[in-house]
Amino acid sequence: MTAFLECSVCGSKFDGFPPKCSCENCGGLLEYKYDYERFKTARFTGRFSFWRYRQFMPEVKNAVSMGEGGTPIHKAQRLTKVIEFGDFYFKDETRNPTNSFSDRCATLLVSNALDLGYRSVVCATNGNLGASLAAYCAKFELACHVVVPKSVDVGKLAQMLIYDAVVEEYGDIVDKALERAMEIAEETGWYQGSVELNPLGVEALKTIAYEVFEQIGVPEWFIVPMGSGGTLYAMWKGFKELEIAGKTSKLPKIVGVQAEGCPPIVNAYLRKTQKPFLKMKPSTHALAILVKNPTYGGLALNAIKESKGLALAVSDEEIFLAEREMAKFEGIFAEPASAATYAAAKKLANQGLIGKMDKIVCLITGSGLKATDVLQALTKKRKMAVVGLELSTKEKILKILSERDAYGYELWKELGKVMTRAAVYQHLNELSSRGLITSYERDGRKFFKITKRGEKVLQAFDDLKLLL
Ligand SMILES: [Zn+2]
Repeated sequence: MTAFLECSVCGSKFDGFPPKCSCENCGGLLEYKYDYERFKTARFTGRFSFWRYRQFMPEVKNAVSMGEGGTPIHKAQRLTKVIEFGDFYFKDETRNPTNSFSDRCATLLVSNALDLGYRSVVCATNGNLGASLAAYCAKFELACHVVVPKSVDVGKLAQMLIYDAVVEEYGDIVDKALERAMEIAEETGWYQGSVELNPLGVEALKTIAYEVFEQIGVPEWFIVPMGSGGTLYAMWKGFKELEIAGKTSKLPKIVGVQAEGCPPIVNAYLRKTQKPFLKMKPSTHALAILVKNPTYGGLALNAIKESKGLALAVSDEEIFLAEREMAKFEGIFAEPASAATYAAAKKLANQGLIGKMDKIVCLITGSGLKATDVLQALTKKRKMAVVGLELSTKEKILKILSERDAYGYELWKELGKVMTRAAVYQHLNELSSRGLITSYERDGRKFFKITKRGEKVLQAFDDLKLLL
């Protein structure tokens, strides 16, 4: 549909293409607007996927696609029982081609870049967008230059590299990377693919709201992670447009979630100001929402207010607990930023804000397989399990020997013959070299005997167990 850009501050209007992010007159953020009368006769067309909504987006001549959108929404049956609230859903954006919601942005941005004749794209990213753009640029023959901050999830970086993007590291967090991407686009004339700097990003993401509407109708609550605030704003824009198009008269309460270690939009919400602020050095494991100066903060705050929703922060501990529960009870492996939405839902339910009959949707933006900290934590857990197993064998040997002396074969039998005899002797050698047991010969057999030191260690094991 024919679209134009309008300044969210002074209302000045500009041509829709090429997309640009700020107003020439006042520097305000630009967003796409349409002749909304035409929305009433516009249609969703084709199969359930991203391009089904192209009549509600700025015009694209040659739409490219890798099969993005049309993602499933899961009813969280087990968690609903555990938490005892509402009618609870996860909108699962991990099911996109590169496992995040950013594929929606990539398909629209790359289509637009090709329509306008560009050969190269530059973007700044916390990770997901870079991975998506790199894949779409590879497939549709564009050069892709990605600027990432120092802390970026290793899985996302791996995606960018294997899709053959040029990856430049710049600054500690994405705010600096954005400045660099802006500089590069100005110097080189490349297409600006950063969603914070290209209003097509919001148009792409609003299709998530359209899909949820088609899948389960308009929920009472829509819970969204906030980095720049653009995703939250896009959800609200989507639902508002459905209302304008006459498809619904109901709107959801929008909830924005940030990490306690980096909550500039939540700070502004609590202080009732329009300007996000942060008075600490930002830090969180939820790297996808680690943004200090949120570009869409003001619009996100407006959306929260207008929708009668709210903003809240959750701790990294709450995020990781939520992450595990989502996986354990619903089989969804989300990145920490996404798990934050479920952590927030639990908080709201505990506070009695969510009604028992309310329909709640948590937006799962990306896969946990991309997140460094999650993978490291799990690897550590596996190692712990192995160490625990070895410890328990040594402990069992010490326990047997604390009751009586025994020879190797006896010990192997008493340990249940679950390991090889060689493994038992290996444990005995290790215990012996630490001075926890000694051995002596009797009747042509080598007997093992616990030492004083070994007894102390065994006692320490028992003490430890009281602590665990
Ligand atoms: Zn303006």
